[in-house]
Amino acid sequence: MASTPSYKRVLLKLSGEALMGDKGFGIDSAVVERVAGEVVEARRLGVEVGIVVGGGNIFRGVKVAAEGGDRTTGDYLGMLATVMNGLSIRSAIEKLGVRARVFSAIDMPVVCSTFTQRDARKAFEDGSIVIFVGGTGNPFFTTDSGAALRAAEMGCDGIFKGTQVDGVYSADPKKDPTAERYETLSHQEVLSRGLEVMDAAAIALARDNRIPVIVFSIHQPGAFVDVLKGEGRCTRIAD
Ligand code: UDP
Repeated sequence: MASTPSYKRVLLKLSGEALMGDKGFGIDSAVVERVAGEVVEARRLGVEVGIVVGGGNIFRGVKVAAEGGDRTTGDYLGMLATVMNGLSIRSAIEKLGVRARVFSAIDMPVVCSTFTQRDARKAFEDGSIVIFVGGTGNPFFTTDSGAALRAAEMGCDGIFKGTQVDGVYSADPKKDPTAERYETLSHQEVLSRGLEVMDAAAIALARDNRIPVIVFSIHQPGAFVDVLKGEGRCTRIAD
């Protein structure tokens, strides 16, 4: 018999790059469809799923600043990129017959709903997959911080960070064959060792709100659901 996830409501953080697949830029619809399928499977297992999506597959504000442009404008472009990704995820989920709502931190009512804590919580209660776009709505932040913020506001019992590899390693496993994967870490260990999991603001917010962060491979098909059931490879960050 399949095991049942112990999580009630989780926040899945998807980087923009995860949606890019093997392409150098933009959205690979095959990847979006696969991820949507896994999210729907999680929902069918009884887990409420919120998604915070990044925008790095399209735009990053720091790149503009590095080229001598205005960081704030660049960051707004980055936030708009997350809206494109969120809309494509919504379409893929709805194609599978499941309701999905997009809430943006930046007001754009013709395109999607404006985020309010009340409305987003209600969308979870109505059985929708809830997609958060626009990050925190502020420049100089990242969608990792947006993920920690929304997880706290929505009362999520875990932040699932889908990354390139299946957890947090002592060194880059793609460069160092002796790198070892941690099974567990505390938020404080991540911060004091400078481990590159999420940015420090996001980890600190998760720590202060006692939200575990589970790092797993988004490239491994089925890993999200396996990890939700406590069966897949991951690193669990919790105090
Ligand atoms: N961004 C921002 N404020 C936020 C979230 C995102 O300014 O609260 C901008 C920032 O320029 C960032 C870009 O949006 O580089 C895309 O987000 P992020 O880099 O977090 O995406 P990911 O790496 O997850 O694809």
